[in-house]
Formats: sequence, C-alpha cells, structure tokens
Amino acid sequence: MKYVILGNGPAGVSALVAIRELDPAGEITVVSPETWRYYSKILLTRWIAGKVRFPNLFLAGEGFYDRNGVKTLFGVAATRIDPERPVVELSNRQRLDYDRLLLAMGSSPQVPDIRGIRLPGVHYLRTFDDAERIALAAPSARRAVVIGGGLVSLKTAEGLLARGLEVWVVVSSDRLLSQITAPEDSEAVLRIFQGPPGLHIVLGCDVSELEGRGRVEEAHLSTGERVECDIVVVGKGVTPNILVTRGTGIATARGVIVDGRMQTSVPGIYAAGDIAECYDIARGKAALNALWSSAVWQGRVAGYNMAGRDVSYAGDVALNSVTFGGGCVVALGRPRPEAGDEVHTLAGKGGGEYARLVFRDGRLVGAVLTGRAVETAGVLRSLIVRQADATPIMDRLLGGRTSYPRILNLKLSVSGIAS
Ligand SMILES: Cc1cc2nc3c(=O)[nH]c(=O)nc-3n(C[C@H](O)[C@H](O)[C@H](O)COP(=O)(O)OP(=O)(O)OC[C@H]3O[C@@H](n4cnc5c(N)ncnc54)[C@H](O)[C@@H]3O)c2cc1C
Repeated sequence: MKYVILGNGPAGVSALVAIRELDPAGEITVVSPETWRYYSKILLTRWIAGKVRFPNLFLAGEGFYDRNGVKTLFGVAATRIDPERPVVELSNRQRLDYDRLLLAMGSSPQVPDIRGIRLPGVHYLRTFDDAERIALAAPSARRAVVIGGGLVSLKTAEGLLARGLEVWVVVSSDRLLSQITAPEDSEAVLRIFQGPPGLHIVLGCDVSELEGRGRVEEAHLSTGERVECDIVVVGKGVTPNILVTRGTGIATARGVIVDGRMQTSVPGIYAAGDIAECYDIARGKAALNALWSSAVWQGRVAGYNMAGRDVSYAGDVALNSVTFGGGCVVALGRPRPEAGDEVHTLAGKGGGEYARLVFRDGRLVGAVLTGRAVETAGVLRSLIVRQADATPIMDRLLGGRTSYPRILNLKLSVSGIAS
C-alpha cells in the first residue's frame, strides 16, 4: 500500500505513526514545504522570548523518519491532486502516486488589506522560519506593533516584551480574544494582560496604514495616532490550506469536510488537523478547531482508517488557554451564549477569579475561566465532552455567588461522574 501524507505537523505525524503501527511494510511518504523535522508551534513564542532552547522545539529526534521507514520530501509543496489517476503533483514537478492520501496541510495566516502590508519588517507567525525571522529582527528593534488580539498575537507580544521591546497590541474588536470569549468576559480577560511595563493594548482600533522607506517604520492607527515601530507582527486569524483541493471533487466549506472516519468526499483521501471540519461536541456540529490536541487525535484516527482499521473520531471540545505573566485565561467549548442558553457568571473578590459557565438544556457547553478558576478546566471539559446532565451537581457548580472554592471542590465531588 502506498500512503502519501501532505503535511509534517501534528496531524501528519500522528497519522504516519498510526499507519506504521498497523502496516509495517507500507510505503509512506511525507511532503512538506518546510525543511525542519517535526517541531512544536506552541513553543515558538517562548523560543522567541529566549525561554526555550532551539533543540527543545523538536518533537521528533533526528532518526525518527528513518526509524519508521518513512520517505520525506521536505522543501516541496503539493500543488495539485488528481484523484482519477490517482496522483499528487509537487512544486518540484515530481508526481507521487498513492493508494491513500492524507491532507494535513494546516492553515496559513490571513493577510489583511492594509496599505504597506508587504513592507519588509512585517511578519506573521505560523512556522519556525517565521519565528526565526522575528527573533533575528528583535535585537535591533525598539518597538513592535502586533496587529490582532487573538491567542497567537498575545503570545507573540509576550515573547517580544521578554526580548526588551516595547509592544503595541492593536485590536479591531473592543476586547481581547474575541473569537473565544463573549463581550461580558472582556474586563476579566483584559485584567490578565494589563500591567507589564512596555505593553500598550489599544482596543476598538485598526491599523489603517503601514509606512516606511524600504521597511516598516510607522503604523497609522484609525484613531489618528502614529506609532513608530521597527517590527510589525500580524495575527488576524488563519485560513485552511485547501487550495490544492480545487477541481478534485473533494467537498469543502471553510475547511475540508470529512466523515467520522476522517475520510473526505473522495474515497481514499482523508483530512485531519487545522484543515479539517470535524465534529465539535459543544457545538453539536462540524467546526474548524485549530488546536494541537485535536490535530493529533484526528491524525491518529485518519491514519488508522487509511491502514484499514475502522476507527471513529468521537469529536472534540475546544480548550484554548493563554498564560501571560502570572495570569491565565481558559476558554472551553462554546463560550459564546446563544438564544435559549442559561449563563451563570461568578466573579471572585477584586475580580482576580472569574468563571462564566454556559448551559444548554442542563448540559454544560462552554466556559471562560480566569484566576484560580482555571484549575477546574479539566473537570469542566469532561462535563462538556460527556454532555451529562449537570442539574444534579448544579449547586456545586455554581456554589455561592463568589465562592470559588465551591467550584474548585468540584474536582473531588464529581470525580465519579466526570472522572
Ligand atoms: C505560534 C502558535 C502558537 C500556537 N499555540 C497553540 C496552543 O497553545 N495550543 C494549541 O492547541 N494550539 C496552538 N497552536 C495551533 C496549533 O499549532 C495547530 O492547531 C496545529 O499545529 C495544527 O496541526 P496541523 O498538523 O493540522 O497543521 P500544521 O501544524 O500547520 O502543519 C501543516 C503542515 O503542512 C505543511 N504544508 C503546508 N502546505 C502544504 C502543501 N501545499 N503541501 C504539503 N505540505 C504542506 C506545512 O509545512 C506543515 O508541515 C498554535 C499555533 C501557532 C502558530
């Protein structure tokens, strides 16, 4: 059997491990335009900050691919798929025929429509090469502008602050982490990111233009303010890399549509990770959840099915967490309430701890947590995964109006239900 895996991130690598487990003799080829062996994207901002050493970024040793009998084609991208032949064409004009194909190409940063966005000195952060460009620019830089207030932007801002830069985070929305929180969380979330010297957060504001002679020197804000800067990092979301599916008959929406076995609408072609629209338990429907752990599970399920074992993906619950300084915010499941949901908000004294829980028909579907309340994230996630009726434990979940210990006790008291 010939397996071709497009992508060398967590989805692709988990699939190759699963395939090899079931099929010791199959021919596996992994294709990636990046030249590095499997590494952690989650650690990139900590590497920029100088808090993680380069060798510790890698999740696979030098001999990983050889040991697994896997052929690597690094530094080349898939450009076209022909499911009729069936064959994949690569950017180096090579053609690979396959029996089973996995699409695990992840996503790419969105490029906002801002004048000057192509100037040198404007960066994105998706790959190690991106991180290296930012890290190389940091020592000679004084001030950075980060466009966007999402998870990657905030982690990047922390990394640059650690390198001694002054950082302006400019956010279109009137709150941080707007994709994974609700408006009522804005104060509690903002509190986590306030305080470090050198960090300026500007909410409800756009960068209207980037200007500079030869490289970026100034950001024009929609407030009329101008911020001199040496580096700009753009974090305005990502788009799944689905371009190569065009004309193949593979059904797509925002991402690639898959069934419960991670197979696309074209038999023999599978998809996993950031590129795939998979069942989201809290939403009760398919969604794009750009999460490392989801990519690992989906890749594994895809790999098993590609190698002939019938395995289903049970679905996932989003868990996004951002630590910043000493604080942390966690968003679980579907934190944004919809009509008919029941919402309970608990805030500790001084606002240091905060939990907002969203229920649907007595079942927990989402939560936003800060302070010590984040310690309950694992338990709350289990409740969402199991979609168990939370009514019998509602008193304990909600506790007293400001009593976080009651939520924290949940870990002990529901262990039999949520394990
Ligand atoms: C800075 C940063 C921080 C993050 N922090 C977190 C976090 O804290 N927690 C969390 O859960 N998630 C985090 N994520 C998201 C997480 O990294 C992704 O959800 C995860 O990497 C998705 O895995 P994937 O295998 O689907 O795609 P990727 O990891 O993006 O891998 C895609 C692979 O496909 C390759 N590729 C691209 N185009 C082609 C092509 N045409 N042909 C062949 N190969 C191609 C790429 O080179 C790459 O090897 C973070 C992401 C970034 C960038």
